[in-house]
Amino acid sequence: MKGIAILGSTGSIGCQTLEVIRSFPQHFSVVGLGGWRNLALLRKQVEEFHPALVSCQETERGSAPPGLGNATTVTLEEMVSHPQVDLVVMAVAGPAGLLPTLQALRSRKLVALASKEALVMGGQLIAQEMEAGATILPVDSEASAIWQCLRGEGQEVARLIITASGGPFRKRPISELASVTPEEALNHPTWRMGKKITVDSATLMNKGFEVIEAHWLFQTPWDRIQVALHPQSIVHSLVEFQDGTLKAQLAAPDMRLPIQYALFYPKRMPSQWGNGFDITRIGQLSFESLNRERYPCFDLALEAAQAGGTYPAALCAADEVAVGLFLERKLGFTEIPTLVQKVVDEHRSGSATSLEQIMDADAWARRRALEMAGA
Ligand code: MG
Repeated sequence: MKGIAILGSTGSIGCQTLEVIRSFPQHFSVVGLGGWRNLALLRKQVEEFHPALVSCQETERGSAPPGLGNATTVTLEEMVSHPQVDLVVMAVAGPAGLLPTLQALRSRKLVALASKEALVMGGQLIAQEMEAGATILPVDSEASAIWQCLRGEGQEVARLIITASGGPFRKRPISELASVTPEEALNHPTWRMGKKITVDSATLMNKGFEVIEAHWLFQTPWDRIQVALHPQSIVHSLVEFQDGTLKAQLAAPDMRLPIQYALFYPKRMPSQWGNGFDITRIGQLSFESLNRERYPCFDLALEAAQAGGTYPAALCAADEVAVGLFLERKLGFTEIPTLVQKVVDEHRSGSATSLEQIMDADAWARRRALEMAGA
């Protein structure tokens, strides 16, 4: 039995991880569950999975709310380094995932990583841990696809090709984007996900994050990572090799598949979610190039990543604030990139060789984004 800790257990990835675990009760023991605000759901999860450790907003502040069973309340950092934990599922939304991710890697736990912001902000620190022997099991569907395509291959990779659905506004006239509502942005055509990432998928900030994620996870230079629009979300990404061969990974757009692959790696197990996927019913798979004018957030992400230092941390923080304000109807959809750009332009980057430097940049950018938006 693998001892599992799930950070972000009440979020979309956390809940889907528990669905996978529920279907393999003999393989996993849930040692720790970390939620944040959704105490009602966390209580239900504790009742069903009986974790030894639990963490939420209240416990981080030092109080222990009732209804969490016999579980010991701990911080996320304590949870990920606990001796009974073998594998940590990192599904905390936003920059809060960085510190526990580093802690888990330093404790040499397997880390099934869904929180891509951790890699965007702290790519260099995380890459150092990987170089020193820590293991990340990608959960993001695109990163998982590349990981699966690279399996058994050598170093002869020419390019990584990351696919993007293009989100709900792929065909909307650019002049109409200023007036789109949160409801429209949250109505993703192919994936069911949490709110922050769904908006990031509509702006394609998320795709920028995924290029950065691939750069660090697979040690691939920026000019060897390409993005192609693929509206059906069936081909989850591709790898091109030096002889001109391309390998693609195809599956139903269901996050439980990459989650299960990461949990059981290197084994493949039968699955309730992917079996019976009928390729003849897809009809057509199409690919097109990205219209950069439509998706300014994509370029903002890549520019920040290539500038390096603490620019990516400032970008992530500003994006989180901007998306939050958009969801509260305090910022227009096309003002998301405008606000992020203003914050990043004003940011004076330091080196990003310590967690403190990154978190300082995060706090600065968060404060500045709120001030600039007048919120
Ligand atoms: Mg993805």
